[in-house]
Amino acid sequence: DVVVVGSLNLDRTYTMPMLPDAGETLHATGTMVSSGGKGANQAVAASKLGARVALAGAVGCDDAGDAVLGAVSRAGVDTSLVRRIPDAPTGEAVILVDGEGRNFIVVTEGANAAAVAPEPSAAVEAKVVVGGFEVRDESVIGAAALAESVGALFVLNPSPFRPLPAAIAGRVDVLVVNEHELAEAAGVDVDTESDAALASARADLGAAALVVTLGARGAVAVADDGSVVRVPAVTVQATDTSGAGDAFMGALVARMAAGASMVDAVAFAAAVGSYSATNPGTQLSYPTLAELEGWMVL
Ligand code: ADP
Repeated sequence: DVVVVGSLNLDRTYTMPMLPDAGETLHATGTMVSSGGKGANQAVAASKLGARVALAGAVGCDDAGDAVLGAVSRAGVDTSLVRRIPDAPTGEAVILVDGEGRNFIVVTEGANAAAVAPEPSAAVEAKVVVGGFEVRDESVIGAAALAESVGALFVLNPSPFRPLPAAIAGRVDVLVVNEHELAEAAGVDVDTESDAALASARADLGAAALVVTLGARGAVAVADDGSVVRVPAVTVQATDTSGAGDAFMGALVARMAAGASMVDAVAFAAAVGSYSATNPGTQLSYPTLAELEGWMVL
Protein backbone atom coordinates (compact mmCIF):
# COMPACT_ATOMS: atom_id res chain seq x y z
CA ASP A 1 0.00 0.00 0.00
CA VAL A 2 2.79 2.39 0.97
CA VAL A 3 6.29 2.70 -0.49
CA VAL A 4 8.66 4.96 1.45
CA VAL A 5 11.79 6.16 -0.36
CA GLY A 6 14.02 7.51 2.39
CA SER A 7 16.75 7.29 4.95
CA LEU A 8 17.78 4.71 7.51
CA ASN A 9 20.04 5.79 10.37
CA LEU A 10 21.40 4.49 13.62
CA ASP A 11 20.19 6.96 16.27
CA ARG A 12 22.32 7.71 19.30
CA THR A 13 20.17 9.58 21.79
CA TYR A 14 21.58 11.37 24.84
CA THR A 15 19.26 12.78 27.47
CA MET A 16 20.40 15.69 29.66
CA PRO A 17 18.78 18.34 31.86
CA MET A 18 20.14 21.11 29.66
CA LEU A 19 22.46 21.33 26.69
CA PRO A 20 26.17 22.00 27.18
CA ASP A 21 27.50 25.43 26.29
CA ALA A 22 30.41 25.72 23.85
CA GLY A 23 33.49 24.20 25.49
CA GLU A 24 31.46 22.61 28.29
CA THR A 25 31.24 18.87 29.03
CA LEU A 26 28.15 17.40 30.66
CA HIS A 27 27.13 13.96 31.83
CA ALA A 28 24.12 12.56 29.99
CA THR A 29 21.45 11.22 32.34
CA GLY A 30 20.47 8.58 29.80
CA THR A 31 21.69 7.11 26.53
CA MET A 32 20.02 4.94 23.93
CA VAL A 33 21.06 3.44 20.60
CA SER A 34 18.14 2.72 18.32
CA SER A 35 16.95 2.38 14.76
CA GLY A 36 16.06 5.68 13.13
CA GLY A 37 16.21 7.82 10.00
CA LYS A 38 13.17 9.65 8.74
CA GLY A 39 12.37 7.13 6.02
CA ALA A 40 12.66 4.18 8.40
CA ASN A 41 10.72 5.99 11.12
CA GLN A 42 7.86 6.81 8.79
CA ALA A 43 7.79 3.27 7.39
CA VAL A 44 7.73 1.78 10.89
CA ALA A 45 5.02 4.18 12.07
CA ALA A 46 2.79 3.27 9.12
CA SER A 47 3.46 -0.46 9.47
CA LYS A 48 2.73 -0.54 13.21
CA LEU A 49 -0.62 1.08 12.43
CA GLY A 50 -1.48 -1.78 10.07
CA ALA A 51 -0.39 -0.55 6.62
CA ARG A 52 1.53 -2.79 4.23
CA VAL A 53 4.79 -0.89 3.81
CA ALA A 54 7.96 -1.28 1.75
CA LEU A 55 11.02 0.87 2.42
CA ALA A 56 13.53 1.75 -0.32
CA GLY A 57 16.88 3.09 0.89
CA ALA A 58 20.46 2.12 1.64
CA VAL A 59 22.59 1.07 4.62
CA GLY A 60 26.21 -0.03 4.98
CA CYS A 61 27.47 -3.61 5.33
CA ASP A 62 28.17 -2.93 9.01
CA ASP A 63 26.69 -3.83 12.40
CA ALA A 64 24.68 -0.62 12.40
CA GLY A 65 23.12 -1.65 9.10
CA ASP A 66 22.21 -5.08 10.51
CA ALA A 67 20.70 -3.47 13.59
CA VAL A 68 18.62 -0.92 11.70
CA LEU A 69 17.39 -3.40 9.09
CA GLY A 70 16.52 -5.90 11.82
CA ALA A 71 14.49 -3.37 13.77
CA VAL A 72 12.64 -2.13 10.71
CA SER A 73 11.75 -5.63 9.53
CA ARG A 74 10.64 -6.66 13.02
CA ALA A 75 8.14 -3.82 12.78
CA GLY A 76 6.72 -5.58 9.71
CA VAL A 77 8.27 -3.38 7.01
CA ASP A 78 9.36 -5.05 3.74
CA THR A 79 13.07 -4.20 3.49
CA SER A 80 13.80 -6.02 0.21
CA LEU A 81 14.28 -2.65 -1.52
CA VAL A 82 16.98 -1.52 0.93
CA ARG A 83 20.43 -1.75 -0.69
CA ARG A 84 23.55 -2.72 1.27
CA ILE A 85 26.52 -0.59 0.31
CA PRO A 86 29.95 -2.16 0.91
CA ASP A 87 32.06 0.99 1.06
CA ALA A 88 29.87 3.38 3.06
CA PRO A 89 28.87 3.33 6.73
CA THR A 90 25.24 3.29 7.75
CA GLY A 91 23.93 6.82 8.31
CA GLU A 92 23.95 8.07 11.88
CA ALA A 93 22.10 10.63 13.95
CA VAL A 94 23.24 12.11 17.24
CA ILE A 95 20.19 13.32 19.16
CA LEU A 96 20.42 15.45 22.28
CA VAL A 97 17.21 15.72 24.31
CA ASP A 98 17.01 18.38 27.01
CA GLY A 99 14.91 18.52 30.17
CA GLU A 100 12.04 20.16 28.32
CA GLY A 101 11.85 17.31 25.81
CA ARG A 102 13.30 19.47 23.03
CA ASN A 103 15.65 17.75 20.61
CA PHE A 104 18.80 18.83 18.78
CA ILE A 105 19.92 16.55 15.97
CA VAL A 106 23.00 16.10 13.78
CA VAL A 107 22.93 13.51 11.00
CA THR A 108 25.62 11.98 8.81
CA GLU A 109 24.57 10.85 5.37
CA GLY A 110 26.69 7.68 5.01
CA ALA A 111 25.07 5.02 2.85
CA ASN A 112 21.90 7.11 2.46
CA ALA A 113 23.76 8.83 -0.39
CA ALA A 114 23.20 5.64 -2.39
CA ALA A 115 19.45 5.33 -1.77
CA VAL A 116 17.47 4.91 -4.98
CA ALA A 117 13.77 4.81 -5.68
CA PRO A 118 12.62 1.48 -7.12
CA GLU A 119 11.96 1.32 -10.84
CA PRO A 120 8.25 1.31 -11.56
CA SER A 121 7.21 -2.28 -12.22
CA ALA A 122 4.22 -4.50 -11.78
CA ALA A 123 5.88 -5.74 -8.60
CA VAL A 124 5.65 -2.34 -6.95
CA GLU A 125 2.15 -1.93 -5.64
CA ALA A 126 1.50 1.37 -4.00
CA LYS A 127 -1.39 3.66 -3.26
CA VAL A 128 0.95 6.17 -1.65
CA VAL A 129 4.63 6.86 -2.33
CA VAL A 130 6.44 8.83 0.37
CA GLY A 131 9.49 11.00 -0.33
CA GLY A 132 11.82 12.70 2.16
CA PHE A 133 14.93 14.86 2.17
CA GLU A 134 17.43 12.76 4.10
CA VAL A 135 18.21 11.26 0.69
CA ARG A 136 19.44 12.99 -2.45
CA ASP A 137 17.39 14.80 -5.07
CA GLU A 138 17.65 11.91 -7.56
CA SER A 139 15.86 9.65 -5.07
CA VAL A 140 13.17 12.25 -4.44
CA ILE A 141 12.64 12.69 -8.17
CA GLY A 142 12.61 8.89 -8.56
CA ALA A 143 9.94 8.64 -5.87
CA ALA A 144 7.79 11.20 -7.68
CA ALA A 145 8.23 9.31 -10.95
CA LEU A 146 7.32 6.02 -9.28
CA ALA A 147 4.15 7.54 -7.85
CA GLU A 148 3.18 8.91 -11.21
CA SER A 149 3.74 5.69 -13.12
CA VAL A 150 1.90 3.43 -10.66
CA GLY A 151 -0.92 5.92 -10.13
CA ALA A 152 -0.14 6.50 -6.46
CA LEU A 153 -0.34 9.68 -4.41
CA PHE A 154 3.03 11.36 -3.88
CA VAL A 155 3.39 12.64 -0.32
CA LEU A 156 6.56 14.63 0.33
CA ASN A 157 8.14 15.61 3.65
CA PRO A 158 10.97 17.99 2.68
CA SER A 159 12.93 17.54 5.88
CA PRO A 160 15.64 18.56 6.65
CA PHE A 161 14.65 21.38 4.35
CA ARG A 162 16.37 22.39 1.12
CA PRO A 163 14.74 23.92 -1.94
CA LEU A 164 12.48 21.49 -3.78
CA PRO A 165 14.08 20.11 -6.98
CA ALA A 166 12.52 21.70 -10.06
CA ALA A 167 11.77 18.26 -11.52
CA ILE A 168 9.06 17.59 -8.92
CA ALA A 169 7.24 20.89 -9.40
CA GLY A 170 3.54 20.25 -9.83
CA ARG A 171 3.93 16.57 -8.90
CA VAL A 172 3.41 16.70 -5.14
CA ASP A 173 -0.04 15.62 -3.99
CA VAL A 174 0.52 16.38 -0.32
CA LEU A 175 3.41 18.47 1.02
CA VAL A 176 3.91 17.93 4.76
CA VAL A 177 6.04 20.48 6.63
CA ASN A 178 6.51 21.76 10.14
CA GLU A 179 6.45 25.50 10.88
CA HIS A 180 10.19 25.99 10.34
CA GLU A 181 10.09 24.18 7.00
CA LEU A 182 7.05 26.17 5.95
CA ALA A 183 8.95 29.41 6.61
CA GLU A 184 11.90 28.18 4.58
CA ALA A 185 9.84 26.72 1.76
CA ALA A 186 7.63 29.78 1.39
CA GLY A 187 10.55 32.17 1.88
CA VAL A 188 8.68 34.11 4.56
CA ASP A 189 7.25 33.45 8.00
CA VAL A 190 3.76 32.34 7.04
CA ASP A 191 1.13 33.32 9.60
CA THR A 192 -0.23 29.88 10.45
CA GLU A 193 -3.19 31.49 12.24
CA SER A 194 -4.39 33.04 8.99
CA ASP A 195 -6.31 30.83 6.57
CA ALA A 196 -5.61 33.23 3.70
CA ALA A 197 -1.85 33.16 4.32
CA LEU A 198 -1.88 29.36 4.40
CA ALA A 199 -3.94 29.12 1.24
CA SER A 200 -1.56 31.40 -0.61
CA ALA A 201 1.48 29.47 0.71
CA ARG A 202 -0.04 26.27 -0.70
CA ALA A 203 -0.60 27.89 -4.07
CA ASP A 204 2.97 29.29 -4.13
CA LEU A 205 4.46 25.91 -3.26
CA GLY A 206 2.51 24.24 -6.07
CA ALA A 207 1.45 21.21 -4.04
CA ALA A 208 -2.10 19.95 -4.49
CA ALA A 209 -2.48 19.95 -0.71
CA LEU A 210 -0.39 21.35 2.12
CA VAL A 211 -0.24 19.99 5.66
CA VAL A 212 1.56 21.98 8.35
CA THR A 213 2.33 20.39 11.70
CA LEU A 214 2.24 22.84 14.61
CA GLY A 215 3.72 20.81 17.50
CA ALA A 216 1.48 20.95 20.58
CA ARG A 217 -1.02 23.03 18.57
CA GLY A 218 -1.78 20.11 16.25
CA ALA A 219 -1.84 20.49 12.49
CA VAL A 220 -3.57 22.28 9.67
CA ALA A 221 -4.57 20.93 6.26
CA VAL A 222 -4.96 23.18 3.22
CA ALA A 223 -6.74 21.73 0.18
CA ASP A 224 -6.28 22.86 -3.42
CA ASP A 225 -9.52 24.85 -3.28
CA GLY A 226 -7.95 26.91 -0.49
CA SER A 227 -10.11 25.41 2.26
CA VAL A 228 -8.32 25.16 5.59
CA VAL A 229 -9.07 22.63 8.33
CA ARG A 230 -7.37 22.73 11.72
CA VAL A 231 -7.03 19.67 13.89
CA PRO A 232 -5.89 19.70 17.52
CA ALA A 233 -3.09 17.64 19.01
CA VAL A 234 -3.83 15.58 22.11
CA THR A 235 -2.72 17.46 25.24
CA VAL A 236 0.14 15.44 26.68
CA GLN A 237 3.13 15.74 28.97
CA ALA A 238 5.76 15.71 26.19
CA THR A 239 8.88 13.82 27.26
CA ASP A 240 10.60 13.48 23.90
CA THR A 241 9.19 14.94 20.69
CA SER A 242 11.92 13.48 18.47
CA GLY A 243 10.30 11.48 15.72
CA ALA A 244 6.87 13.04 16.35
CA GLY A 245 6.87 14.49 12.84
CA ASP A 246 7.79 11.09 11.41
CA ALA A 247 5.05 9.40 13.45
CA PHE A 248 2.67 11.98 12.02
CA MET A 249 3.84 11.26 8.44
CA GLY A 250 3.62 7.49 8.85
CA ALA A 251 0.14 7.70 10.33
CA LEU A 252 -1.02 10.14 7.65
CA VAL A 253 0.07 7.92 4.76
CA ALA A 254 -1.21 4.74 6.44
CA ARG A 255 -4.65 6.33 6.69
CA MET A 256 -4.53 7.77 3.19
CA ALA A 257 -3.52 4.38 1.77
CA ALA A 258 -6.56 2.93 3.55
CA GLY A 259 -8.74 5.41 1.68
CA ALA A 260 -9.39 8.02 4.38
CA SER A 261 -9.97 11.64 3.41
CA MET A 262 -7.03 13.97 3.93
CA VAL A 263 -8.70 15.73 6.86
CA ASP A 264 -9.51 12.44 8.63
CA ALA A 265 -5.96 11.26 7.99
CA VAL A 266 -4.51 14.50 9.41
CA ALA A 267 -6.65 14.23 12.57
CA PHE A 268 -5.50 10.64 13.08
CA ALA A 269 -1.88 11.61 12.40
CA ALA A 270 -2.00 14.43 14.95
CA ALA A 271 -3.10 11.99 17.65
CA VAL A 272 -0.32 9.56 16.71
CA GLY A 273 2.23 12.41 16.81
CA SER A 274 1.06 13.30 20.32
CA TYR A 275 1.28 9.68 21.43
CA SER A 276 4.86 9.47 20.23
CA ALA A 277 5.78 12.67 22.11
CA THR A 278 4.90 10.97 25.41
CA ASN A 279 7.49 8.23 24.94
CA PRO A 280 11.26 8.42 24.55
CA GLY A 281 12.91 7.54 21.26
CA THR A 282 11.55 7.41 17.74
CA GLN A 283 10.40 4.06 16.34
CA LEU A 284 10.01 2.53 19.81
CA SER A 285 7.66 5.37 20.76
CA TYR A 286 5.20 4.62 17.97
CA PRO A 287 1.88 2.97 18.76
CA THR A 288 0.10 0.01 17.27
CA LEU A 289 -3.56 0.60 16.50
CA ALA A 290 -4.49 -1.25 19.70
CA GLU A 291 -2.14 0.86 21.82
CA LEU A 292 -3.47 4.03 20.28
CA GLU A 293 -7.09 3.05 20.87
CA GLY A 294 -6.38 2.10 24.49
CA TRP A 295 -4.65 5.42 25.04
CA MET A 296 -7.37 7.56 23.44
CA VAL A 297 -10.01 6.01 25.70
CA LEU A 298 -8.02 6.68 28.88
P1 ADP B 1 8.34 17.98 13.81
O1 ADP B 1 8.75 16.92 14.79
O2 ADP B 1 8.52 17.57 12.39
O3 ADP B 1 8.86 19.36 14.11
P2 ADP B 1 5.87 18.74 15.11
O4 ADP B 1 6.67 19.16 16.27
O5 ADP B 1 4.97 19.73 14.48
O6 ADP B 1 6.75 18.08 13.96
O7 ADP B 1 5.02 17.47 15.61
C1 ADP B 1 4.27 16.66 14.75
C2 ADP B 1 2.96 16.30 15.42
O8 ADP B 1 3.21 15.62 16.67
C3 ADP B 1 2.10 17.50 15.78
O9 ADP B 1 1.26 17.83 14.70
C4 ADP B 1 1.33 16.99 16.99
O10 ADP B 1 0.21 16.24 16.57
C5 ADP B 1 2.31 16.05 17.67
N1 ADP B 1 3.07 16.76 18.73
C6 ADP B 1 4.34 17.23 18.65
N2 ADP B 1 4.70 17.85 19.81
C7 ADP B 1 3.63 17.73 20.64
C8 ADP B 1 3.35 18.16 22.00
N3 ADP B 1 4.28 18.84 22.73
N4 ADP B 1 2.14 17.87 22.51
C9 ADP B 1 1.21 17.20 21.80
N5 ADP B 1 1.40 16.78 20.54
C10 ADP B 1 2.59 17.03 19.95
